[in-house]
Amino acid sequence: MEVKIGTCTVELVTGDITRQDSDAIVNAANSRLGGGWGVDGAIHRAGGPSIMAETRQKYPQGCLTGDAVITGAGDLVAQYVIHTVGPVWSGGQRNEEEKLASAYQRSLELAVENGCGSVAFPSLSTGAYRYPVDLAAGTALNTVLSFLEKNHQPKVVRFVLFDDPTHAAYVAALRKIKTNC
Ligand code: ADP
Repeated sequence: MEVKIGTCTVELVTGDITRQDSDAIVNAANSRLGGGWGVDGAIHRAGGPSIMAETRQKYPQGCLTGDAVITGAGDLVAQYVIHTVGPVWSGGQRNEEEKLASAYQRSLELAVENGCGSVAFPSLSTGAYRYPVDLAAGTALNTVLSFLEKNHQPKVVRFVLFDDPTHAAYVAALRKIKTNC
């Protein structure tokens, strides 16, 4: 599924984010930027050790929840990896929604600052961090759509969803947003 926001396109696809040819791919990192399971592990495995070496050198203090940092992409097809830290879900009373929106927003800002015309996101926080996917999808899409309405770039934002249930949740959330517009 895809929608146009002015001259920009938002795409929802199933797939593996490490294989994307967008200018930047986004990593669902942890605040230590120490590598891990899920998307994080897959990106470091496929991209090789230079990504972690650059992360350690440039951001030894790590990255706060809701913030993002950028590195090169090693052996990946993409040019950059944007490492962002989504919130751990703990019931919804700890500003999780605000922090999740901020993770998308800061990633998009870094993409634009670094001249990226296209960026690929995984479904931040909905794996090990247990954010309910229906809620996360709404926040992710609302944040991306309003960023594109205001900034008119990046030209392509692609959500690369790893499995069919996650893809279906994003399709449903996007349909709901479009009907309410
Ligand atoms: P978090 O810790 O932010 O929850 P995870 O990496 O555990 O991040 O999971 C986030 C989402 O990314 C989950 O839906 C998971 O299935 C998915 N995922 C895992 N590996 C990949 C991959 N290689 N490409 C795209 N999505 C992936």
